[in-house]
Amino acid sequence: MAFTAMHAERGRLDASRDDLGCGWAWAAVHRARPRVPLTCPECGHGVHAKLSPARMRFFAHDAGAPQCTLAGESMEHHLLKLQLAGEIRAAGWLAELEVRAPDGTWRADVMASSPNGARRIAWEAQLSAITEDEIRARTERYAAAGIGVCWVASRPRRWLELPDQSPRAPVSSHHGRRAPSAGLRRRRRHQHGRDYAGRRSGSGPPRR
Ligand SMILES: [Zn+2]
Repeated sequence: MAFTAMHAERGRLDASRDDLGCGWAWAAVHRARPRVPLTCPECGHGVHAKLSPARMRFFAHDAGAPQCTLAGESMEHHLLKLQLAGEIRAAGWLAELEVRAPDGTWRADVMASSPNGARRIAWEAQLSAITEDEIRARTERYAAAGIGVCWVASRPRRWLELPDQSPRAPVSSHHGRRAPSAGLRRRRRHQHGRDYAGRRSGSGPPRR
């Protein structure tokens, strides 16, 4: 499953947004006849709009799909991505799901952009095992593109306490230049310790 799909004329569709991010209602793609041709942004295979039993919107791969990293992500991972997008939007930032680098060097679970577009922070829902080296390498790829990154886990992970090794991406503020690491680490702890871990048993995914 995925929250994003590509359409030849409309471009990128985002199932977490009311207008799918392209001015279309969900009904324009869900069970529409004739069927609207949509493809997976990751593997290019055909996808179709679908509702989960809890009425969450997503795009499912058509039969015969190749191995695709988006298709292989767990439901927990998807729910966390949705929650992150909801909270980023509630904070007044733009949130886009499943955003790929133009050259394919990274794909953010949720890309947050500040209202003026000057800052970008990738939010990574990292629920599966990952090595510290891989965390560093991926963080550095974002930093090279001037993008901060916030790693989010649903359970204690050793790498959540890693000192920030990434090159300093220049970020302007009214205090002049500063690295985003301190702020990111605060948010990371907060996200891990209270927001997500604290609410996941009771509240479930945001309904849209
Ligand atoms: Zn795919």
